[in-house]
Amino acid sequence: MKTFEHLLRPNIRSLQPYSTARDEFQGEASIFLDANESPYNMYNRYPDPMHHKARNRVSILKDIAPGHIFLGNGSDEAIDLVMRAFCEPAVDNIVTITPSYGMYKVAADINNVECRQVALRSEDFSLDANAVLDAADEHTKVVFLCSPNNPTGNLLQKEEVYRILKYFKGIVVVDEAYIDFAGALSLIRELASYPRLVVLQTFSKAWAMAALRLGMAFASPGIISIMYRIKYPYNLNIFTTEYLLHRLDGNNQVEEQVKELLSQKDVLMKELVKYPFVEKVYPSDTNFLLVKVKDANALYNYLLEKKIVVRNRHTLPLCENCLRITVGAPEENSRLLHALSAY
Ligand SMILES: *Cc1c(COP(=O)(O)O)cnc(C)c1O
Repeated sequence: MKTFEHLLRPNIRSLQPYSTARDEFQGEASIFLDANESPYNMYNRYPDPMHHKARNRVSILKDIAPGHIFLGNGSDEAIDLVMRAFCEPAVDNIVTITPSYGMYKVAADINNVECRQVALRSEDFSLDANAVLDAADEHTKVVFLCSPNNPTGNLLQKEEVYRILKYFKGIVVVDEAYIDFAGALSLIRELASYPRLVVLQTFSKAWAMAALRLGMAFASPGIISIMYRIKYPYNLNIFTTEYLLHRLDGNNQVEEQVKELLSQKDVLMKELVKYPFVEKVYPSDTNFLLVKVKDANALYNYLLEKKIVVRNRHTLPLCENCLRITVGAPEENSRLLHALSAY
């Protein structure tokens, strides 16, 4: 089976990465005079570029070897790194779905890589694998999928994702930012069968750590090692990794919080459909609801007046008059419903 090396940009294939002081030294030492650090203060040392401790702990959490794990400054970093590793600016292209998460196109635009957007099916936001395959050509290096998808909320059908993995010969990124809310298995378990698969997850949503910027990519060790070669050496700071270790050691409460958010989502769903101005609440495998209303702009502005901010998705394809509403704490959700009752 062809792996991925032939897909890399030539400059990345031959890159001599920056070698940090700590890369060149291995073993035990008690005096560090190698990195021009100050001897003062408790945050004086550069962090470990390879994230050994944190990756070992994430390895236990996700039940996959550390060599399959990349940790980034949010999953947005991983999106950009995959783009820069594989897509030659002004030559290569990516294929993604629409509507979906905006960062795939933004990262492509920044890197001067053409972004081809294939519409999901309008009836149910399902994925048409053949349409994705048809949009790809010999310059398509990466397909970006998002499952469960943002902003539509649905898991993409497994068979269609497998179809793309089987027939597309480039890199397939599946963004699983909301997988902790979905009653579905992660594609991480399939990495051994698909050497060109990259799965993205994040600590920003179910783990409630968006402020600390910590994203994960899971892939074959070859792809992971390329990502480590091209990232900024010190992409994670000590606060973030120390806090992660603390969360993974203690009772992290993620399961309980996810459970509460899912039951709050059911409450919101049941109440929202009762309003005459709500046309449809789409099924959701995430911690948000996509809601079709009579006039999204008007409702959005009304809620703003009530100091409640939701996401107006009206201008996205297939999302006419849709608002995306994040499930909040019980008190926040009931205040939202209260405001809607007075609309
Ligand atoms: C929120 C979200 C992310 C998270 O990005 P981070 O950079 O890890 O905070 C990634 N992908 C999708 C689809 C999201 O909605």
